[in-house]
Amino acid sequence: MALGAALGAGVTAHAVPGLLGIPWIRAAVSSRMTGVGDGGRIALTFDDGPNPASTPRFVETLNASGVRATFFMLGCMVARAPALTRSIVESGHEVALHGWSHHNLMLRGPRATYADLNRARSVLAELTGQVPRFFRPPHGLFSSSALLAARRLDLTPVLWTCFGQDWTPQTTPESILGRLRPGLNGGATILLHDSAGSRAPDAWKSTLDALPRVLDECARRGLRVGPLRDHVLPANA
Ligand SMILES: [Zn+2]
Repeated sequence: MALGAALGAGVTAHAVPGLLGIPWIRAAVSSRMTGVGDGGRIALTFDDGPNPASTPRFVETLNASGVRATFFMLGCMVARAPALTRSIVESGHEVALHGWSHHNLMLRGPRATYADLNRARSVLAELTGQVPRFFRPPHGLFSSSALLAARRLDLTPVLWTCFGQDWTPQTTPESILGRLRPGLNGGATILLHDSAGSRAPDAWKSTLDALPRVLDECARRGLRVGPLRDHVLPANA
């Protein structure tokens, strides 16, 4: 099923998680696509890196806490930071695919979409020796072409169940925590960003400050934080 088709082309990128609260839309999106796992775990995912200016700080914090995460990377960023990409994998984190560039795939045709995903998947696999298993499209917007390309490339489409809205200039560690708190439950998938966009170039600093507090909150709730690969996805989803 195509999330993009269900939601329509006019939906803005980050409206998607909110819309997942609407029953008919939630029903149209399988739990596999939102990354729902078992009750004792929570998956931690980061989008838009790797960025040499910010990603190493996230990896450092995660490593110091003994927590592994999944990084949905852009191929164009990976190509510019091969050593950083390798170090993320060497630290035990999982690499996943966010596309080659941060284009809205709803605006791309089947050939361009496949080429984008294939190029990014290849560079990640060649550099790290780890073949990405999961795919999350830029802006969380799936097109039917993207779903088809993902299937051909043996990639599992995944979105998220809660997010920190950490991409705006107004973002603070408190706003991120406030956004996430209601969703920090067993089986959830957290979306944060380890690299900021041009709209809010310093937003990642708030995400970084919020990270230890997010991990503490998960620990307080008895949740084991880890990468998506450790999430137990429903077999029939
Ligand atoms: Zn993104």
